[in-house]
Amino acid sequence: MINFINVILPIPLQKLFTYRITAAEADFIKIGSRVAVPFGKSKIYTAIVFELHSEQPTAYEAKDIFQILDEFPIVTGPQLKHWQWISSYYMCSLGDVLRASLPKAFLLESETLVLKNAAFDQVSILNDDEYLIWEALEHQSKLKIQDIGKILDRKGVLTVVNSLLSKEVIEVKEEIYEQYKPKFVKYLDLHPTHQTDDQLHQLLDNLSKAPKQREALLLFFQLKQGNDAPVLRKKLLDKGISAAVIKALVEKQVFEQSEIREDRVSFDTEIKMIHELNEYQAKALSGIKAAFDEKEVCLLHGVTSSGKTEIYSHLIAETLEQGRQVLYLLPEIALTTHIISRLQHFFGDKIAVFHSRYSVDERVEVWNNLVNRSEKAQIVLGARSSILLPFTDLGLIIVDEEHETSFKQFEPSPRYHARDAAIMLGHLHRAKVLLGSATPSVETYHNAKQQKYGYVALNRRYKDVQLPEIELVDIKEKHRKKRMKGHFSDRLLLLIEDALAEKEQVILFQNRRGFSPIVECSTCGVAPQCPNCDVSLTFHKFNNELKCHYCGHHQALPKTCPACENPTLDSKGFGTEQIELELKELYPETKVARMDLDTTRGKYGYQKLLRSFHDQEIDILVGTQMLTKGLDFKNVSLVGVLNADNLLNFPDFRAHERTYQLMVQVSGRAGRDEKRGKVAIQSFNPYHQILQQVTTHDYDTMFKDQLNERHQFLYPPLVRLVRIVLKHKDFIKVEGAANWMGRSLVNSFGDRVLGPTSPSIGRIRNKYIKSILIKLPEKISLNQSKGQIQKIKDSFMSIPDYRSVQVIIDVDCY
Ligand code: ADP
Ligand code: ZN
Repeated sequence: MINFINVILPIPLQKLFTYRITAAEADFIKIGSRVAVPFGKSKIYTAIVFELHSEQPTAYEAKDIFQILDEFPIVTGPQLKHWQWISSYYMCSLGDVLRASLPKAFLLESETLVLKNAAFDQVSILNDDEYLIWEALEHQSKLKIQDIGKILDRKGVLTVVNSLLSKEVIEVKEEIYEQYKPKFVKYLDLHPTHQTDDQLHQLLDNLSKAPKQREALLLFFQLKQGNDAPVLRKKLLDKGISAAVIKALVEKQVFEQSEIREDRVSFDTEIKMIHELNEYQAKALSGIKAAFDEKEVCLLHGVTSSGKTEIYSHLIAETLEQGRQVLYLLPEIALTTHIISRLQHFFGDKIAVFHSRYSVDERVEVWNNLVNRSEKAQIVLGARSSILLPFTDLGLIIVDEEHETSFKQFEPSPRYHARDAAIMLGHLHRAKVLLGSATPSVETYHNAKQQKYGYVALNRRYKDVQLPEIELVDIKEKHRKKRMKGHFSDRLLLLIEDALAEKEQVILFQNRRGFSPIVECSTCGVAPQCPNCDVSLTFHKFNNELKCHYCGHHQALPKTCPACENPTLDSKGFGTEQIELELKELYPETKVARMDLDTTRGKYGYQKLLRSFHDQEIDILVGTQMLTKGLDFKNVSLVGVLNADNLLNFPDFRAHERTYQLMVQVSGRAGRDEKRGKVAIQSFNPYHQILQQVTTHDYDTMFKDQLNERHQFLYPPLVRLVRIVLKHKDFIKVEGAANWMGRSLVNSFGDRVLGPTSPSIGRIRNKYIKSILIKLPEKISLNQSKGQIQKIKDSFMSIPDYRSVQVIIDVDCY
């Protein structure tokens, strides 16, 4: 007999917890639905049912659940399997995965604060329990959910709370829970008493003394013509009919007003046919399909502007025809209105968009649409976290820009890579996975070469537009010959002036934001440091502030050096802000704008900037990494890179690969139409092999060189990397802990353990950091190694002195 359930609690505990259920509950409870359960002394959590069974736990007495919260599962079967894989592969708890996946609105807890909604006044719709709570809130401004349990004198109160929420009687405190309020729109239709022609004539006659109302009614007929659907109230308002007139007509029972729930993420664009593919694209498409006959994953290696998105659209359409779902993954920053509306043109309302700038409300909507298999969510277009959504039957996953680093989640746990997790998700659904990129990551290309993935190349741009002409500018030479103005070489300035003269636009890329990364005292060499982190503060000129990009600490720029007290603080290096300023001095007539994290805050900040660039209100756009993604501007003829060296010299085994990718991607923004674009890359070291490979678009050589280096120095894809990071406020403690951990790891893994070391930034937010890197060869079973690491971590945690040390395990930490 089934009388127990195992649940996932939204807390970082490694294990599932068992609760007792009654026979009646057992008939009702479904895997993937929510239950409220007690935990610890007095806490109540929302948990997800993972399995039903009949085995009493031996280690503890199973408690009863409080209550069942869902009639139907809100988490799907394949989703649970996928969560399990994430938890085991990335060495984190299922609770971590649960927290990362479920919108907060689904996770009420005993500590959640409930407030009264002042606008509520329809007491008559409340039942007895609900009324009691409403009354209690008349006397107390806020209640915890556990207080509500006391008022109602029972434990299972979350259904009452949910019902109060849906009736908008209460609100839940924002920090914990952004309340989900579906948006309603008002529609008008003829009242059912006026249906026949006679009745309508009668009606118009009756209104002859109320010309405004008559006018409204005539307009209503006009709007409704040939259409059975009711008319949007807003349409009448837009045509100048006043709200009072509409209200009068509703009161006279001429109109009947109804409210229809409108999903916030809704669009009304006209659906167009998807484009016909050209010869090369069609060949690529059939190549992909042939690969899918044999393999689950295929790489589409297509140069920028070759029409990869068009090919995706064809695959999407075919998958929808089979009645299966599609997941289209993009880096967050590439999720612009541009790509969204492009796909909406083809697929309209079938697309649900999901990314982190969306509110909880909007995410709940996408979630529900998926669980209910609504028409509206057959295609999910989303950033990395959309792999955690409740899919039921995926047929196709597209990972566009698969090389992008932002697919990896670093903080908090689960530290997954969305591309890799997507491949596993595809496997669980028996879906096909297409990875697309103009500059594939070394690991993906390696997998394709090893024939683990299918491979299709597309080397022609659409309409045979030429790839841009890339030129390297030696700024060492230019400095020597005094041909630099600020950070601009005479050559780059000439190219900019040419472009401006032709009324074309320019994009300038600089890898750093801020005015200049640091200020330094020219007398004593000291740079002001962040009080919480071991980094120099970054100077932001527009508000004359020093800012820490790690913890957000900011302070006014001191007038004198904090060390020697001389007034000789000077900026060193340069960022986007300084470039913008220099340009404004050089070309006062030109409209210059800057795009980086500081100028694109807020949900639409980024899009506003892109829109005005698109509308040519901006001549020169200066920006960071953000510039490389999702932009397609016909009028950009020149792309300039101010300094390629700081990318090349970045201390990371992927620095060269990344530089190649970034340079090729920014170059791809130049000259997308008839005219061949130009790219100028400034560098102190233009003979660097990577820069040479960029100018010749020589991906293959770049790949071979990189793979050789990784062979030689043992880096992915030839080994796997697991990083263990330890953090504590006390340096001595974290050092001791790291040494202990390091020794134990060496016992198991020998010289494949590097460290412990202090990272280049040894302290962040007042915590000291130690890091240990383990290189696991491909040959050795990953699971076994992870088991070993987990054991060492468990022993570590059992040492009382180390219990307060934070331990982070990051699998595939790159
Ligand atoms: P990629 O994704 O490879 O960078 P896109 O799919 O964005 O390339 O294509 C570049 C441009 O060319 C887009 O504006 C796209 O609409 C257009 N294009 C590509 N292929 C076709 C096609 N077969 N029919 C019409 N337009 C196309
Ligand atoms: Zn800081």
